[in-house]
Amino acid sequence: MFNALVVEKNDEGKTHAAVRQIDIDALPEGDVLVAVDYSTLNYKDGLCIGPGGGLVRNYPHVPGIDFAGTVEASQDPRYAPGDKVVLTGWRVGEVHWGGYAQKARVKADWLVPLPQSISTRDAMAVGTAGLTSMLAVMALQDHGLVPGAGPVLVTGAAGGVGSVAVALLAALGHEVAAVTGRPEQEDYLRSLGAAQIVARDSLTEVTRKPLEAETWAGCVDAVGGAMLGRVLKQMKYGSSVAAIGLAGGAAIEGALITPFILRGVNLLGIDSVMQPFENRKRAWARLAADLPMEKLHSMVQMATLGDLPGLGADILKGQVKGRVVVDVNA
Ligand code: NDP
Repeated sequence: MFNALVVEKNDEGKTHAAVRQIDIDALPEGDVLVAVDYSTLNYKDGLCIGPGGGLVRNYPHVPGIDFAGTVEASQDPRYAPGDKVVLTGWRVGEVHWGGYAQKARVKADWLVPLPQSISTRDAMAVGTAGLTSMLAVMALQDHGLVPGAGPVLVTGAAGGVGSVAVALLAALGHEVAAVTGRPEQEDYLRSLGAAQIVARDSLTEVTRKPLEAETWAGCVDAVGGAMLGRVLKQMKYGSSVAAIGLAGGAAIEGALITPFILRGVNLLGIDSVMQPFENRKRAWARLAADLPMEKLHSMVQMATLGDLPGLGADILKGQVKGRVVVDVNA
C-alpha cells in the first residue's frame, strides 16, 4: 500500500480530494513502475484536483501531470530498476493516473531518462512549466530571436511558466520585460532577471487601433485572451509570440489580422503534452545547460500531498508564485 491524492466523485457529481492508501494493483496498466520522488503543481492540476474541467475522464482519479523518480520495475528494455526518469505530458494526471502518488505505472514511451546533472527534485522544480518555457524559447530562437534584438515580453510572469521563462531568457542574454498583475512581486521578478516590469492593466484594455508602436522583439505568453490580442499589435516587424497558455481567457478581440499581414508577426503555438521523445530530450538537455539553478531554487516552494487541495484552488485564482514542488513521500 502507498499514499496517493485521490479525487472521488459522489452521486451528486461533486468531487472531493483526499490523501488515501491505495494498492499497487489499483494502478493503471503500463510497462514501467516508478517510485515517485517529486511531482509539481501546474494550472491543469488545479483543474484536475477540482471538478476536472473536462480533463478528467474517470473517477476515482490520481492527478499530477508530471513526476520524477526511480524505476522500480520495467518490462521495457530501455529502462532498468534504479534508472532516474522524468515524465511530463501524454495526458498523465488527466486521463491516466499521475504523479500525486508514491508510485506510478506508465508507458515507457512517455518517460525521458533524467540528464545526470539534474536531481529528481530539480527536475520537478523545472517540471512541465519549465519544459514548456524551454520549448517556447527554442521556438522563438528557431524563428530568429537573438540577444540584442530588443525587449522580450513574458506574460503571467510571476506564475510557474512565466517565472522560468523570465530566468531562462535573462540567462540567455535577453532584455526581459515581465508582465504581472501583482506589483508586490516586482523584487522577485527582478531577482529572476527581469529588466522591466509591465503592469497587467496596461495590456488588458482592448483598443480599436489596428497596430501600436513596435515594442517587443519576442514574447512568451501564458495569459492569452485580451492581453494576447493587445501584445500582437505591439510586436516588432517579423518577430514571434510563443503562445503557451490561456490563464486570462481564450477569446481574442480586436483587429487581429493586421499584425500578421502588415508586420509579418508569427504566432507560434506551443504544446508540451504530445512532444516527441527527441524534442523532450533536447529540451531537457538545454534546460540542464541554460537554466541557472540558483534562480530555479529561488522560485520554488515545497508542498505535501495533503497541501494540494488548497494549493489547487489557489493556482486557479492566479495566486501561486513560481513553482510548487510536491514531495510525495513527506
Ligand atoms: P500559473 O497560475 O502558475 O501562472 C499563470 C499566471 O498568469 C498567474 O500567476 C498570473 O501572473 C497570470 N494570470 C492569471 N490569471 C490572469 C488573468 N485573468 N489575466 C491576466 N493574467 C492572469 O499557471 P502556469 O504557469 O502553470 O500555467 C499558465 C498557463 O499555461 C495555463 O493556462 C496552463 O494551462 C498553460 N500551460 C500550457 C502548457 C502547454 O504545453 N502549452 C504547459 C503548461 C502550462 P501574474 O500574477 O504575474 O500576472
